[in-house]
Amino acid sequence: MFGSGLLKGLGITLRHALGRPVTELYPFEHKNPPANSRTFIAMHVNEEGAPACRACNTCIVGCPDRVLKLVKDPDDPKRAVEFVVNSGRCTYCGLCVENCPFDALYFTQDYERATRDKGALIYHLIEDGACTHEGEVDRP
Ligand code: SF4
Ligand code: SF4
Repeated sequence: MFGSGLLKGLGITLRHALGRPVTELYPFEHKNPPANSRTFIAMHVNEEGAPACRACNTCIVGCPDRVLKLVKDPDDPKRAVEFVVNSGRCTYCGLCVENCPFDALYFTQDYERATRDKGALIYHLIEDGACTHEGEVDRP
């Protein structure tokens, strides 16, 4: 029918104009992104509250962008004393999280860490042998 395309287009426009908005009033509204979104890398703790990392190096050697740095405890090679993430280099490919045999790493949905300071994108997951809880989000 002549003009059916026009009517169809108008229908779509009307449906969107009268429907619920898909945009959010950020920064006034803080909605949680989907649980599978990748923002910052964080570290799980074990039952004792210590970092879940066992210093196996799998994530370090597997990272294609040399984002991660690990310093082992000289007295205990299965313990990390420092674990540093240079997130400015990270492409969020997820290899480190997927390949960790101890399920130590995970992605948070912390999307509010944009900065012009490259140095601020380098953060510790483990410092002096303890978990820093860096990157974890506690947003309602
Ligand atoms: S985070 Fe996981 S893969 Fe990386 S060194 Fe620690 S235990 Fe190994
Ligand atoms: S997500 Fe990918 S690029 Fe980022 S630290 Fe992990 S392995 Fe490296």
